Amino acid sequence: MTSWKENVREVVPYTPGEQPKTKVIKLNTNENPYPPSPLVGKAISDVKLDALRKYPDPNCSNLISAIADYHGVDKENVFVGVGSDDVLAMSFLTFFNSNKPVFFPDITYSFYDVWADLFRIPYEKKSLDETFKIKPEDYDEPCGGIVIPNPNAPTGIAEPVSFFENIVKKHPECIVIIDEAYVDFGSMSCIDLVRKYDNLLVVRTFSKSRAMAGNRIGYAIGDKELIKYLSDCKFSFNSYTMDTITLAAGVASIQDDSYFKEKLEAVINTREWTKKQLSTLGFTYPDSKSNFIFAKHESVEASYIFEELKKAGIYVRYFSKPERISNYLRISIGTDEEMQVFIDELSKIIKGV
Ligand SMILES: *Cc1c(COP(=O)(O)O)cnc(C)c1O
Repeated sequence: MTSWKENVREVVPYTPGEQPKTKVIKLNTNENPYPPSPLVGKAISDVKLDALRKYPDPNCSNLISAIADYHGVDKENVFVGVGSDDVLAMSFLTFFNSNKPVFFPDITYSFYDVWADLFRIPYEKKSLDETFKIKPEDYDEPCGGIVIPNPNAPTGIAEPVSFFENIVKKHPECIVIIDEAYVDFGSMSCIDLVRKYDNLLVVRTFSKSRAMAGNRIGYAIGDKELIKYLSDCKFSFNSYTMDTITLAAGVASIQDDSYFKEKLEAVINTREWTKKQLSTLGFTYPDSKSNFIFAKHESVEASYIFEELKKAGIYVRYFSKPERISNYLRISIGTDEEMQVFIDELSKIIKGV
């Protein structure tokens, strides 16, 4: 007798960072320490209760227009979804349909191999060099697609636009996805390349730089034909992905650019301050252009520091796998006050060993 279990789509899911219910200093999931713009609050409270009776706008036209204007592209160049996880998953489904493997770094966002497994997409992980940098020559062969975050996660290392242009240029046979989840924190976007290359898709999120992880807004910018294919897949799956309240909140965030820039600058300044403190305490780290620092201590083990910080009510992220990064901690940037408490506790832990 065969069992139904032979026909189950069995996957090992992605593990998100912990969301503790108690009040802690939360530096483990790269959330923004500041709230979204006050205009977002106003937009949310302005949504009439009666408006929720109706389905949301399936075309998300106001949000798409706001994003298109912001980046100086046409509306037909923009696709939106429920966080960039939704946009990325839909992009994998739409564009990665070759028998050839999709390429991505061995140390990167740990959702990529989960989607590839889920959709049965063959893939090959390309190892970063000793300093955690991407080796561009690894991406030279013809393949089924490429996905790379810029800056990369969890290393925080950014590469210039020319680095990605070289990759995109070499691969007319496939779609190259650049995941720009952290690009606003001080690196250059590949969005302008979309005009020149019809095989490039740039994916963005409101979760980190716009402090709206709780809303779930992500988007992709690409050639009109790419966006059309993505939309066709989305409308074959779920027409109403984004809700009425979130759509209004997203537009309001884009409209308050001065608040956005001010908070970005605050996070960047705190990151640079934190780097210096970490160096003083004996940590090393790749030069991060994101809202986190990937750091390793010269003598104290990461797993020990992780547990001790947790006892002190400070959560950071620790990945026991792969082996190469098992002595690193990924520390999200909080407010100045939070980072001062973090550094003080860290100093006690290091000195107490
Ligand atoms: C956080 C993150 C995402 C997902 O963000 P959403 O909250 O789903 O928009 C995607 N890619 C990378 C590299 C991330 O760090």
